[in-house]
Amino acid sequence: MKTYKNRPENLNQTLKESVKRYPNKVALVHGKERLTYMELYRQVNNVAYQLKHEYGVEKGDRVAFLLMNGTPFTVGVYATLKIGAIAVPLNTKLKSLELEFMLQNSGAKILIANKEWWPNMEPILKNTELEKIFITDEKPPKGSIPFSSIVEDYTEAEIQVEVNENDNAFIMYTSGTTGRPKGALITHSNMIHAILNYKYCYNLEENDSTVIAVPVFHITGLAAQLMPLIYLGGKIVLMPMFKTKEFLEILQNEKITHVIASPTVFVMTILDPAHKKYDVTNLRVIGFGGAPMPGETLRALKDWIPNVELHNTYGLTETTSPAVIMPGEHQLDQISAVGPPTPVTEFKIVDPETRVELGCEEVGELLFKGPMVIQKYWQNVEATQKAIKDGWFSTGDLAKVDEQGFITIMDRIKDMINRGGEKIFSVEVEDVLYSNPKVMEVAIVGVPDKKYGEVVKACIVPREGESLTEEEVKGWVRDRLAKFKVPTYVEVMDLLPRNPNGKVVKTQLRYIPSNIK
Ligand code: AMP
Repeated sequence: MKTYKNRPENLNQTLKESVKRYPNKVALVHGKERLTYMELYRQVNNVAYQLKHEYGVEKGDRVAFLLMNGTPFTVGVYATLKIGAIAVPLNTKLKSLELEFMLQNSGAKILIANKEWWPNMEPILKNTELEKIFITDEKPPKGSIPFSSIVEDYTEAEIQVEVNENDNAFIMYTSGTTGRPKGALITHSNMIHAILNYKYCYNLEENDSTVIAVPVFHITGLAAQLMPLIYLGGKIVLMPMFKTKEFLEILQNEKITHVIASPTVFVMTILDPAHKKYDVTNLRVIGFGGAPMPGETLRALKDWIPNVELHNTYGLTETTSPAVIMPGEHQLDQISAVGPPTPVTEFKIVDPETRVELGCEEVGELLFKGPMVIQKYWQNVEATQKAIKDGWFSTGDLAKVDEQGFITIMDRIKDMINRGGEKIFSVEVEDVLYSNPKVMEVAIVGVPDKKYGEVVKACIVPREGESLTEEEVKGWVRDRLAKFKVPTYVEVMDLLPRNPNGKVVKTQLRYIPSNIK
């Protein structure tokens, strides 16, 4: 397996080195707060010390995070890694039952959360192994502790725990075509190789600064921005929520040089006519990934910032983000391709049925091998065996490669909807709707959308004698799943289209119902 030589031993070393080199440089900007590398390091050490000595967190224990982008997430994650524990970032948009599963499955002992998610957490706490909950609010709800109390300075003692590059660093939950979400188990080495992929393919350096406009609980915010910039000693501006005007102001006022985000961030920026008024001449690298980018947005970005380097970036949570990165000089003549593999990625394209390797221009399933690819899912042997065979990870995406080695993603094998980078597995929404006693049959598909690329459509066949309204269907999902999984369109039908084997033909359902304007 190809690896990057001269790499840091673990993620803790990346922060430590940056503090040594740039103690007084700004590391994090969050609203009015500006933390230097030294201040960040002290906070990390304080939290690590408290978690270990006051709250008994040991190497290998899990610490969960239910936080928007901000300093508590960064401090909490680096503190967790410092004591050799495993960070479990959770999607703040999830509902109680979705969170309950992830907290139970990870066996997290500690949860660090924003207060606004308390109503979602309170009903499920008794069903988890959580021992302590820290809330990032001075007046935390009863039974929880203010996070600020463990950030305060009270020790000079430096925490020392031996952390090896093959130790686990993160559990990141991703959904699947069957069953419950799976925890991708990311090691320190996986993340370090992802960081170095970004450094070398995007030419990032110490003077770079970034704004994180996508959630850090997803792999892109974490592995493409937060961790590489900490490693380099750059500046990171954290946006808790993407808003076009604020994003543009940050690009200009903080002299941002590097952004990677989902295509929706750039689509919305370009759609806002005010974008042209801002001075963004410092921006030299734009990366986008997680979903396909419209060609017109790419061209508009280049017209707006002629010197910017654009990089399509393809990867999955299981590849710790980047497996394929388009070199800047090729992006505009290779609009539909995602790029060649990064220097440490091996790939092959196989027939999805026979697993026989295919040649140039033949469409098949894309497989990866490399030091940033996970070895397993957390406590899920079945899912691991299904996804990883002989060291090759199956992406569930259909792709082809051309003579020059550029890969193009053609379609998906996995039954998934990609709503602006948020992945929705049809089966999860279908299962929730099947639990409605009025539903006889349901099929969930993605339909095209200008802003999000794709949105959810539910096709429903009611039981005999029953009727269902659009609002009832949406309300049923809204009460049980994250808002982004709620169908945008609902079509009530007499029958679902099926092939001769009885399988629902979803391709025939991927249109916007005609009664919708
Ligand atoms: P996730 O694990 O949530 O990061 O989702 C990974 C999936 O997002 C991939 O399997 C693809 O289907 C999709 N994806 C990621 N990057 C790209 C890209 N650059 N272009 C198109 N689809 C992408």
